[in-house]
Amino acid sequence: ARPVVTIVGRPNVGKSTLFNRLSGKRISITEDTPGVTRDRIYSEGEWLDKHFTLIDTGGIETNTTDNILSQMRIQAEIAIELADIVLFMVDGKEGVTSADAEVAQMLRKSKKEIILVCNKIDKYVNNNNIYEFYNLGLGEPIAISSTEALGLGDLLDIVISKF
Ligand code: GDP
Ligand code: MG
Repeated sequence: ARPVVTIVGRPNVGKSTLFNRLSGKRISITEDTPGVTRDRIYSEGEWLDKHFTLIDTGGIETNTTDNILSQMRIQAEIAIELADIVLFMVDGKEGVTSADAEVAQMLRKSKKEIILVCNKIDKYVNNNNIYEFYNLGLGEPIAISSTEALGLGDLLDIVISKF
């Protein structure tokens, strides 16, 4: 089976933007899983002839009326379960938030490969504050801009190196 790469992170960090950038042909899965709108969250990705399944966990409906943090916890649990590799996305313009720290702790406890992706490092943005993301304990933050398509090749090189 193809390796599964999941994208996890707070709302608005840019998960769907990256998902759309990395998506090739959309997978259309008719099988019904309650709460999961599959064709919106699953796609195929490819880099240097390596194929993988990509999942945008932000699109997983959690059926919880609780706060964003509870929803993120559920999404992160599903992401860890499904993934071979987790892309944990943070917002390089906003810096580290307490929700980031909480999810980072969950991810660290899992034995999955985690890649810390620092998004919104656009061409004219000072990237000095990516260093505070080292505090999440997930290693080196990989700086990208999903909207400007910066750093995506380097990110994909790291992703496929873990297959
Ligand atoms: P999601 O909630 O994590 O799926 O985030 P979205 O992909 O919906 O993006 C949230 C907002 O951030 C949108 O307005 C995007 O255009 C914006 N955004 C996403 N990636 C970038 C980026 O690399 N740079 C900047 N400046 N904005 C971005
Ligand atoms: Mg989204």
